[in-house]
Amino acid sequence: MSSPVRLRFAPSPTGPLHMGGVRTALYNYLFAKKLGGKFILRIEDTDQTRFVPGAEEYIKESLAWCGIKFDEGIDGKGEYGPYRQSERKALYQEYTKTLIDNDWAYYAFDSSEELTSLREQAESAGNVFTYNIESRRRLNNSLTLSDAQVEEKLAAGEAYVIRFKMPEKEEVIFTDLIRGEVQVKTAMLDDKVLFKSDGMPTYHLANIVDDHLMEISHVIRGEEWLPSAPLHVLLYKAFGWEAPAFAHLPIILKPIGKGKLSKRDGDKMGFPVFPIQWNDPNSNEVFSGYREDGYFPDAFINMLALLGWNPGTEQEVFSMEELIDAFSLDRVGKSGSKFDPEKAKWFNQHYLRSKSNAELASLFQDELKKKQIHLESEKLEEVIDLIKERAVFISDFWAQSYFFFLAPSEFNPKVVKKRWKENTPQIINDLHDLFSQAETWEATSLHDLTAAYIEKNELGFGAVMNALRLAIVGDGIGPDLFKIIKFIGRKDTLTRLNYALKTIGSFLR
Ligand code: GLU
Repeated sequence: MSSPVRLRFAPSPTGPLHMGGVRTALYNYLFAKKLGGKFILRIEDTDQTRFVPGAEEYIKESLAWCGIKFDEGIDGKGEYGPYRQSERKALYQEYTKTLIDNDWAYYAFDSSEELTSLREQAESAGNVFTYNIESRRRLNNSLTLSDAQVEEKLAAGEAYVIRFKMPEKEEVIFTDLIRGEVQVKTAMLDDKVLFKSDGMPTYHLANIVDDHLMEISHVIRGEEWLPSAPLHVLLYKAFGWEAPAFAHLPIILKPIGKGKLSKRDGDKMGFPVFPIQWNDPNSNEVFSGYREDGYFPDAFINMLALLGWNPGTEQEVFSMEELIDAFSLDRVGKSGSKFDPEKAKWFNQHYLRSKSNAELASLFQDELKKKQIHLESEKLEEVIDLIKERAVFISDFWAQSYFFFLAPSEFNPKVVKKRWKENTPQIINDLHDLFSQAETWEATSLHDLTAAYIEKNELGFGAVMNALRLAIVGDGIGPDLFKIIKFIGRKDTLTRLNYALKTIGSFLR
């Protein structure tokens, strides 16, 4: 029997989740669900110096908004907990000890001042200092000190870190599910710290111990972790454990030119890079979010899924269920994908159009209530039906429809100049009479009445319609005018025509 499929998303609460991070979570989720496996949320909070208050809550809220649900993780679900690394400290100590006992790790007593000075010396000679197979032979560690000296230092409580003892002259080979075979010589790698002087493990150690204990089968993560993967493969070997399969995702590139999409790009270029708004507790800066900017979570997820993965067909619109069904790692590209903010809008527009009028009406109701406009949903659905094609966001609805609810109090002067001619008052007057006597109040019959009047008086259809629109709407905008007139009703129509006659007339005089 093959081992169960278990994937994890393992963010560090050092800040908000960038959309690249959400994509990593999404691909893990899709892969797990496609194979009937489990998706786990683990919080990697071993770096206390980078802890940011509110980040963990932010991560949870973002995933919930996106509809990425975890089966196990913080919050008490699952048998493999605790799922927050700060609550697993004792475990890491124990496992580091076994590495020392088996000669895969060593104590290093070099002070940070000593290391800084070595770094500076190397730098002034145009080199880079690394703690590695070569340099460790000359440094202050349990490989160069005698057992007695080491015991003495430990007994005296001298500060130390525990480093990985990189094997000499070996080649690390592993398969990345996206990139194929990866080969690295150990001579190129350094002796990373596994355990810090503050009693906490580093990311590398904790990550491997937890992936093993939580029986993670596949590690899907950002390409920035690829350089760490050989060390991770060696750590599995050191512990005598089987390594999970690895897949390193390409980065998301800026919309223009090269380079990674960074957290400051968005607000600079006018689009969000975070799923939900982030109020930075340290700098007090506010970073915009897709949720607050009016994106639907399904549109955001659809856009994100295609940023690095392609289905191999022309299909662009995918629900979460369809994504689960179609997703595979062999269709994830190796090179970075350029983020296109216009495409994000396109998806939102698509999702908006495909929602029912009733659903859109209920979303719009919230905004109308804020403006003290109360309208029954059925009536509102009529309006939605006329304007939804023109909107990308729910927040566009108001600008496309305010004239259904409010009579104009003023008239766009540019449109007045262009559309209000000498004979316009006469025409509006005539239409006022015509509408006041209309037998039925339907868009088509009102249209036919108006058309007959225009023909009889040998007027231009466009000119009359433009002037009539100005009088009803206050501007040159809006959907089918007779549908607006039908909606606002006879009484309001006649009032608006009278008001236009009075107001625009005096305005021009
Ligand atoms: N804690 C790491 C991060 O913040 C996780 C990397 C991994 O998935 O191994 O991205």
